[in-house]
Amino acid sequence: MRRFRIGSAFGIPIQLDLTFLLVLPLFAWIIGSQVEPTVELLNQFGGNLDPAVLTTDLLPWLLGIAAAIGLFTGVVLHELGHSLVAIRYGYPIESITLWLFGGIAQLDEMPEDWRQEFLIALAGPVVSVLVGIVSLVGFVLVPSGTTAFAAVRFVLGYLALMNVALAVFNMLPGFPMDGGRILRALLARTNPYARATEIAAEVGKGFAILLALFGLFPPFNPLLIGLAFFIYIGAAGESRQTVMRAAFEGVTVADVMTPADRVTTVDPDTKVRELIRTMFEERHTGYPVERNGEIVGLVTLEDARAVREVERDAYTVSDIMTTELIVLSPEEDVMTALSELEGNNVGRLIVLDEADEFRGLLTRSDIMTALTIIKENPDYKADDEGEATVFEPQA
Ligand SMILES: [Zn+2]
Repeated sequence: MRRFRIGSAFGIPIQLDLTFLLVLPLFAWIIGSQVEPTVELLNQFGGNLDPAVLTTDLLPWLLGIAAAIGLFTGVVLHELGHSLVAIRYGYPIESITLWLFGGIAQLDEMPEDWRQEFLIALAGPVVSVLVGIVSLVGFVLVPSGTTAFAAVRFVLGYLALMNVALAVFNMLPGFPMDGGRILRALLARTNPYARATEIAAEVGKGFAILLALFGLFPPFNPLLIGLAFFIYIGAAGESRQTVMRAAFEGVTVADVMTPADRVTTVDPDTKVRELIRTMFEERHTGYPVERNGEIVGLVTLEDARAVREVERDAYTVSDIMTTELIVLSPEEDVMTALSELEGNNVGRLIVLDEADEFRGLLTRSDIMTALTIIKENPDYKADDEGEATVFEPQA
């Protein structure tokens, strides 16, 4: 199990990723070993703290643990900021997850209204600034004197600085940081959504490369390089998703599937050896299995290969086929089909109409071919015949 739940707030489950358990002690250790320079920094803001008091015995490590936990609490509050505004606009939040690089609030879908995205993105950094201010007020109000008070003030002062730093970092104008979403929202006022995403993603990739270069310079900083990698991947992924969603707008499964009359089906009693021969002859790696005009399963090259050479005459398609079919209706939109494919980690989906009649087969390569064609011929979508597909069958 990579993630486990630690609680919930406003009905949103809060989860810890395993990578987070590695980074929490690391942070505690870093903060604990930096108590003296941190005190010097806080004293420049009128901290009036005595480093000698705070660096005795185990105190630095206790401070490190308290500050690290405080820091990640700040991250959860930041994500809650995003989440509550998103919920207010009617976007459900599946969970908030803490991992190696902070927090993620999982939105099922992204708002395409620029005002909503703008406010959802802005809410996180605003909360961080508020947490910073509250910490600062505590830092100023708690009296100096005893060691316990000094320790509390150290943690509050540290949290004041770090939450403001967190807000500033998140406002960098590149995906997938909040600043990137704000940039996209502002660009989307005058550009199509997909174009706005592309620009914000390019800026994000540029930032990622700068950050990685920065991390490579001495002192070598692996955490910064990891963060750069995460930003790069996030930017690229977001851009790909949005480009596809824009390309497939209004395109249905029926438009891109291989229609039933062009799909070869196999009989459940076919021997595995024969099936493999057919696969090589027709260069298809998967077939719907048909019995009495009804689709009863799907069989793939992988299934067939799992049968040992010597047993391929003994086994038939019905022994090895998958009977748990993932079924789509022809009217479903292509993005839904794609998330079904990816979510179930399968290569092909069966398309059935309301009467459970077999209408076609939809594979990943059907979708990718369609994407290429639509991108090259934007006019294709204007053809509203609905029935004829221009895509070559590929199973
Ligand atoms: Zn954020």
